[in-house]
Amino acid sequence: MQIENFIDGKFTPPIDGNYLPNLNPANGELNSMIPDSSHDDVNSAVNAAKSAFSNWSKLTINERIDWLRQIADGLEQRKADIARLECEDTGKPISLAERVDAERSITNFSFFADHAKSIADLEFRMDDATNYVIRKPVGVVGLITPWNLPLYLLSWKIAPALVMGNTIIAKPSELTPSTANLLCEVLDSIDFPKGVINIVQGLGSTVGQAIVEHPEIRAISFTGGTETGKIVARTAAPMFKKLSLELGGKNATIILDDVDLASAAKGAARAAFTNSGQVCLCGSRILVADKIYHEFVDLLVEEVEAMKVGNPKHRDTDIGSVISIAHKDKIHSYIDLAKSEGGEILTGSEFTILPSNANGAFVAPTLIANLNIDSRCAVEEIFGPVATIHRFTTDEEAIRMANITQYGLAGSIWTGDRARGVAVANQIDSGILWVNTWLHRDLRTPFGGVKNSGVGREGGDWSLNFFSELSNICVKDD
Ligand code: NDP
Repeated sequence: MQIENFIDGKFTPPIDGNYLPNLNPANGELNSMIPDSSHDDVNSAVNAAKSAFSNWSKLTINERIDWLRQIADGLEQRKADIARLECEDTGKPISLAERVDAERSITNFSFFADHAKSIADLEFRMDDATNYVIRKPVGVVGLITPWNLPLYLLSWKIAPALVMGNTIIAKPSELTPSTANLLCEVLDSIDFPKGVINIVQGLGSTVGQAIVEHPEIRAISFTGGTETGKIVARTAAPMFKKLSLELGGKNATIILDDVDLASAAKGAARAAFTNSGQVCLCGSRILVADKIYHEFVDLLVEEVEAMKVGNPKHRDTDIGSVISIAHKDKIHSYIDLAKSEGGEILTGSEFTILPSNANGAFVAPTLIANLNIDSRCAVEEIFGPVATIHRFTTDEEAIRMANITQYGLAGSIWTGDRARGVAVANQIDSGILWVNTWLHRDLRTPFGGVKNSGVGREGGDWSLNFFSELSNICVKDD
């Protein structure tokens, strides 16, 4: 299969005629060829988005909400295809792709359709005048997303940008192009206005960079790694573009001594290994109270060893492949580093896979103990199925350990005393904290990180505000 760009409502080959292979990381087979687009393709997409802006931005919010609902309905009909394509592009288990990726990609459109209805008109009365706050679209916006939750993260940006009246240039990761292409098929099938959503496929260093540099793209919403985020910020900041950066994480899972051990072990295993640890919110540092350390770790190892690694298309698979052979090698280099620094591998070496998956990028879920809390494996984002375990004696020590990294995205605290959990959560420098749960999301709440995990917040009103410009009109009384 050959995927094309989607520019001005048409499936369009890249101007230079170059293509890249898109491989299935679970077996090394070719999924498709995708455009290796250039600066010229981005220019052509920007021209289409500029032309479309005038009509799209003039629609009423209810008309745009109606289009979001039509997209959600179109995606709903392709739900099984979304899950299959995410499974083939990423190597994640089909059951996870159905439950998380396909569900949320659709919900993002229906959620923002509902949420946009709740935007209130703001007015501030003075003794002798009234201030009217007007909300306008930003213009043409650039959306750049990673490979771990492909359509889930892309639609999380597209839906609020659309509903606020912007037109879009989006670039998915070149490792996961297929569901962005499926979205274009849905747009085509519902006669969605041309040029409002343009998808340019290709590499970050060319297409992504061209989007960030383009003077007529007025806002950049980026989700990806911290190092790439620095490049994006460096390029966009001098142009005074609006900028939202959702970056990496190295999140702590804190197990307090009063916890129900069995449910905390299940929660910690899920937080560490969902999607092979390739979720920015994964809890890859597990901090355990001294008093319960051995009992808890035994239960955790049991949970992890019960996870089935294997063919992502099989319904009973818990852990599929990671995104690529290069990423697998990077993860293994961290495991080797941990061993050389005296880390004890509690579980994680052996698993069997079918011969058909012999060329796949599989890594067993791995738990490592006995590393210092500031060792590289404990503070750098590995973004794979690897978690380190550390012990603490007091809540204060756990908080200090949690705050030791350059990141501040998320974390979870597990305890029998909710007030104690909230008190600990309050002292952790992260944007998102859970007590006795993980990845429990209300889409109205602010989502984003502090420190090197990013700048800005997504979700609910925060997304709608990012994709709007607010103007104040002050009218003096007669
Ligand atoms: P990358 O930073 O490598 O890539 C993210 C996106 O940016 C990709 O589309 C990439 O394209 C593109 N890109 C690369 N270089 C540039 C550039 N110079 N200018 C503009 N765009 C560019 O991240 P990964 O795809 O490897 O994703 C994993 C990272 O994403 C992890 O660090 C993870 O924590 C983070 N993440 C953060 C989330 C959050 O909400 N905070 C959520 C999910 C993931 P290409 O793929 O072609 O290189």
